[in-house]
Amino acid sequence: MILFPGDILRLGKAEGLRTRYAHIRGKMKVAVIADVHSNLVALEAVLSELGDVPVIHCGDLVGYNPWPNEVVDAMRARGIISVMGNHDRAVVTRETDWFNPTAARVIRWTAETLTPGNLEYLKYLPQAVREEGYYMVHGSPLRPIEEYVYPDYSPRVLAEYLDMGGRDVLILGHTHVPFALRLGERLILNPGSVGQPRDGDPRAAYALLDTGKREAEIKRVEYDVGAVELAIQEAGLPRALGQRLRYGL
Ligand code: ZN
Repeated sequence: MILFPGDILRLGKAEGLRTRYAHIRGKMKVAVIADVHSNLVALEAVLSELGDVPVIHCGDLVGYNPWPNEVVDAMRARGIISVMGNHDRAVVTRETDWFNPTAARVIRWTAETLTPGNLEYLKYLPQAVREEGYYMVHGSPLRPIEEYVYPDYSPRVLAEYLDMGGRDVLILGHTHVPFALRLGERLILNPGSVGQPRDGDPRAAYALLDTGKREAEIKRVEYDVGAVELAIQEAGLPRALGQRLRYGL
């Protein structure tokens, strides 16, 4: 978590109030995952660590890796709420103009591999989810599917995005770079990517979020990257996608 000096003072003052009223403010502990991208091995490693904790997903169930049906089945079986990511939408619409050739190739392969039922599931994913304790969208509240939001964005814009979401916690995905940024009493969280981290750490990323305290902790889980690399080759998908997993890039 990144805290500015003024935040620490304000947090100290508000602590008593928050603790007293936590029970009537939709306090909830939830695991936040994002960008699973058809990486079943990484998803299983994360879910097995979580036990019974409720899980929500911030978009891009599919793309890049070779288990689209298994991942969608696992998410549906566990009742994980998800929003739509840019890869999910592209698989449904088959519009790949915005993607590099490697990503586009896997999107076409995914569209051909998914069962009709799982394709239908992706088609009806919501663009955003607003619950009592959070607002969740893959890109940004302004451009839900496309925009990449990094923590070095202007604090004014980030505050506007929090306003647009209408909740004290804004959950984003899409960049595959985890961060938890406190803006005053409010929190912006990107849990990073389960299936293809891009922050130089190859371990699967997720976050534990306390919506009552508006605090989040980024967690990392090791998984068998070699097994995924092999499966990518066996499925005839671009080898480079396996190699990048080793470096978390
Ligand atoms: Zn993604």
